[in-house]
Amino acid sequence: MTPTPTVLVVDDEKPNRDMLAELLKHDCRVILAKNGTQAIDRAHELQPDLILLDVLMPDTSGHQVIQSLKHDDATRQIPVIFISALDSPEDEEHGLDLGAVDYITKPFHPSIVRKRVRNHLQSVHHRHLLENLAMIDSLTEIANRRRYSEALENEWRRCARSHSPLSLAIIDVDHFKAYNDQQGHAAGDIVLRTIATTLTGFMRRPGDLAARYGGEEFLLLLPQVDADSAARIGNEIRSAVEAMHLPHPDSPVSRYVTISLGGMTATPHDGQVDPQFFRKADIALYEAKAKGRNRVVWQKTAS
Ligand code: GH3
Ligand code: MG
Ligand code: MG
Repeated sequence: MTPTPTVLVVDDEKPNRDMLAELLKHDCRVILAKNGTQAIDRAHELQPDLILLDVLMPDTSGHQVIQSLKHDDATRQIPVIFISALDSPEDEEHGLDLGAVDYITKPFHPSIVRKRVRNHLQSVHHRHLLENLAMIDSLTEIANRRRYSEALENEWRRCARSHSPLSLAIIDVDHFKAYNDQQGHAAGDIVLRTIATTLTGFMRRPGDLAARYGGEEFLLLLPQVDADSAARIGNEIRSAVEAMHLPHPDSPVSRYVTISLGGMTATPHDGQVDPQFFRKADIALYEAKAKGRNRVVWQKTAS
C-alpha cells in the first residue's frame, strides 16, 4: 500500500489556506504554514511530498522561501508549485526559473488545482519508486552498495552527533568459486539469496542494514553497537549460515557453505566518513581468511 502523500500549503491569508486544505484533503494529508519562516521550518521537519507556495507574503516572500529550500540538501528535492496573484508571463517565468515545477495564478479554478496537484503527486510517487528500485540488489533483493553508501554517510553523522559507536562488517563467502564450479552458477545464486535472507533476519533495529556489496560479499552496518556486541552478532550470523547446512563438498573448511567476517567499530567524531573505517574492516576480513576462514575477526581500535 502506498503511504498517503503530504502537501504543505503556504499562504499568509487564512481563507486561502482553508480553501486549499478543503480542496486537497481527499488526495493527501495537508499541513499548513502561514508565513515563509514557518514554511521553511515545516518543510525541514516534516519533509512533505509537495509544497504549494504563495508568492506575496509579508515577512519572507515565496521567492525567498524557494531559494532557501533549493539551497538546502534536506529540502532541495521537494517540488514546489507557486500559487500567485502575479499573473504576467514574466512572473511565471521567474517562478519557474527559481526552480518551481509549476505556476498557478490566482484566482484559481479549484478543479484544475486539484488535478495539477494529483499529477505532481503521481510524479513524486514514481520518482520514489525508481529511487527505491535503484537502491535494491536485483539478485538478493536486499539493499545494494549505493544504499549502503548513503546509509553509511547518514549513520556516521548521526553517531558523531550522539557520540555513539558505529560497527561495520564485511562478509565474504568461503571458497565460493569452488562452489560455483561444482554446483553451477544457478545454485550459487540460490546460496547468495539464502545468505541475504539470513543476514536480514539479524537486522533488528531501525538503523541496522544488510547490503550486498557485490559478487559474494555483503556488508552489515550496525549503528550504536559497540565492538563486543557487533562481534557477537557477527559470530551468531557466521554460525547461522553454517547451520543452514548448504552442502559444499569441495570446501576444505566445512562440509557446508560458510562465511568469513571482518569487522570494525569506530566512534565518529565529525560528519566526514573516515576511509580507514572500511579499510580496517577489510583488513580484518583478510585476517579471518588467512586464519582459516569460517570465523570472525574484529578491529577494536577507535577510528
Ligand atoms: P575465498 O574463500 O578466499 O573468498 O575464496 P572464493 O572462491 O570465495 O573467492 P574468489 O574471489 O576467488 O571467488 C569468488 C567467486 O564468487 C567467483 C564467482 O564464481 C562467485 N560469484 C561472484 N558473484 C556471483 C554471483 O552473482 N552469482 C554466483 N553464483 N557466483 C558469484
Ligand atoms: Mg570475494
Ligand atoms: Mg569468497
